[in-house]
Amino acid sequence: MDQQQPCPEPSEAQHIVCARCGRAADGEGTPATWTYSMENGHRRYYCDDCARANIRSIESRLDSTWW
Ligand SMILES: [Zn+2]
Repeated sequence: MDQQQPCPEPSEAQHIVCARCGRAADGEGTPATWTYSMENGHRRYYCDDCARANIRSIESRLDSTWW
C-alpha cells in the first residue's frame, strides 16, 4: 500500500474523513489502516472497511463517483 505522503500537510491531516462512508479518522493524521487514492488531482481517503471493499477500484484508479 502507498501510505507515504511525499508532501505532508498537517493542517489537512487533522480532518480526514472517509470519502465513501463519511467516517472520521481516529486520532491525528491518516490511520495506518486507511488508504487513499488520487482522483482528478484530489486525494481521497478511505477507511479500512471501505478500502478493503473497494481495493480493486482504488488500485485501478477508477473514479469513485460511480459507487
Ligand atoms: Zn469508509
